[in-house]
Amino acid sequence: MSPASAIHNLGVVGGGQMGQGIAQVAAQAGLAVTLVDVSPELAAAAVAKLGKTLDRLVTKGKLAADERDATMARLRAGTGHADLGDCDLVIEAAPEKEALKLELMASLGKHTRPSCILASNTSSISITKLCAASGRPEQVIGMHFMNPVPLMKLVELVRGLPTSDATYQTTQALAQRLGKSTIAARDIPGFIVNRVLIPLLNEACYGLYEGLGSAADIDTGVRLGLNHPMGPLELADLIGLDTVLAIAQVLHQELGDDKYRPCPLLRQHVAAGWLGRKVGRGFYSYDDKGQKIEKVG
Ligand code: NAD
Repeated sequence: MSPASAIHNLGVVGGGQMGQGIAQVAAQAGLAVTLVDVSPELAAAAVAKLGKTLDRLVTKGKLAADERDATMARLRAGTGHADLGDCDLVIEAAPEKEALKLELMASLGKHTRPSCILASNTSSISITKLCAASGRPEQVIGMHFMNPVPLMKLVELVRGLPTSDATYQTTQALAQRLGKSTIAARDIPGFIVNRVLIPLLNEACYGLYEGLGSAADIDTGVRLGLNHPMGPLELADLIGLDTVLAIAQVLHQELGDDKYRPCPLLRQHVAAGWLGRKVGRGFYSYDDKGQKIEKVG
């Protein structure tokens, strides 16, 4: 039996933008997916939102109606961790807070069967700490999807110190089954992608803070001048400014270098609740379909 075929039932913990995306690609690839959130209501709302996403794909002619129906039939909203008992692998995609993720790993270690792999979609938090919290350190791994999950090809795999070869191989095979390419990153804060990305986004925030240009000027400069598909401030809005700040704080604290100091303007946006596209306002404003409507930064 190949490692990927060992995974039939997938659990997803956290039904925000990443959890929904992971649940979508997994269900489309034929896995049975149980999604849980802080409450049964939030889990049900996440599955309903995912249904609307698939409806839009059908309307645009990008997905056949029967594929949507088959995908939805493989998705269920769970009431809590006890509903993840038959999972072969669980991916947590809860907010980027170390204490929360440690607590989740401990609970998942108790509620899932002993053979179940526990993966974290964390952007920056130590996988080795999550291994230790789980009670099954060899079966914990970082499985870092990119946003938006259905479109982005990369999954960054992060081995904690105790992560076994078998866990790595099974997780890599699963990522490939979901149509993704993988890279292997060491368990050092930020791993590869965010170690490179977050300083760019933070520097763009400093650029706006210091008045180098408007948000639109900074984003257009990077898009047209550096040939990036998105500007850094619009990308920060897409990621979620709370998530960007949380990752910047981990880099700053754990690596101890002031070059990672989060920009005060980023902190201020998070304090104001202007978390980006997911709440309709960040450096820009967005309508209820997530389309940019005006510049506010
Ligand atoms: P989000 O704010 O969109 O969603 C978080 C979800 O987790 C919400 O549905 C929330 O209700 C739920 N949640 C909160 N506490 C929970 C708990 N105790 N148990 C279960 N669910 C809980 O966040 P997101 O952008 O989806 O990010 C989730 C994770 O993915 C973070 O670790 C983040 O660093 C990582 N990540 C984010 C991106 C990105 O671009 N946003 C990219 C890669 C990785």
